[in-house]
Amino acid sequence: MSSFHDIIGQNDIIEYLNGAISNGQVAHAYMFDGEKGTGKKMLARIFAQTLLCEKHGTDPCGECHSCKMAESGNNPDIITVIHEKPNVISVQEIRDQVVNDVQIKPYGNDRKVYIISDAHLMNVQAQNALLKTLEEPPSYAVIILLCDNKAMMLSTLISRSIVLSMRAVKNELILDYLKDKYQIPEHKAYLASAFAQGNLGKAVVLASSEEFTELWDKVHEILIRISEMDEVKIAAAAKEAAAWKDQKNDLLDLMLMWYRDVLMIKAGGDAEQLIYGEDQREIERQADNYSYEALNKIILMIQQTARRIDSNVNFELAMELLFLEMKGT
Ligand SMILES: [Zn+2]
Repeated sequence: MSSFHDIIGQNDIIEYLNGAISNGQVAHAYMFDGEKGTGKKMLARIFAQTLLCEKHGTDPCGECHSCKMAESGNNPDIITVIHEKPNVISVQEIRDQVVNDVQIKPYGNDRKVYIISDAHLMNVQAQNALLKTLEEPPSYAVIILLCDNKAMMLSTLISRSIVLSMRAVKNELILDYLKDKYQIPEHKAYLASAFAQGNLGKAVVLASSEEFTELWDKVHEILIRISEMDEVKIAAAAKEAAAWKDQKNDLLDLMLMWYRDVLMIKAGGDAEQLIYGEDQREIERQADNYSYEALNKIILMIQQTARRIDSNVNFELAMELLFLEMKGT
């Protein structure tokens, strides 16, 4: 069973929510704001379960009837709003699942909790419909809005909610989490946590993704061999890279982080800070071989390549030009 202790890196928010629970000052509307993967859903689930727990503690007990139902996803007083279309939550959906439903008293508890994931997908009419409920909520209602981007919410909704901003999680915390909870080997956990930039959900996905590991193995091979590859081999590598077009952002980011590591070492940076700590020797070797100018050009070119591919330039050709720059012709 999950509790607030399972959420990492959001201590301020948890402390705040615990305080609200123990002081009996739970509000009618909360907005958890932060990008995907920061743990909004898990936090909302645990908060909802705590509010309905029959033991009335600051964490769900996990044993009462209400907790048991919540854990199996069947607590009738926790309503997770669903939407049919992937990119929008319609006014009808908000009316059916929240505005009208909230008039019905809770089944077994003194509260009824609504969780609206992807709340930023509510169109203006849907947000306005919800606003009516927030203006005069029944005493038992708690509505939790989870949004990736608060800027997409009406200011009137924001002002009626307690807004809690999810933090990016520190790399070391993500690292420990991946190693402890998923038994992911150190170097892979390190790469994934650096790559996810504070986004725990993304780090977990990356660290456990076969696809990402495969991509990394291939990119790694090129990064290490590029200086000894001739033009024929480079053309072949570019051709092979065309198969990774769907992962182009990850592909380019992996390369970008590599050359940033090389540049950092060249500038006398601390090897402890390396993202590719496993490859320290190779990075040091490359730091000796490339000039500052060459490294800056490569980094710039990787960024340009990302933009050029977005504007539909031939992917294989773009990769070939980039590889040639990396080789240092
Ligand atoms: Zn309980």
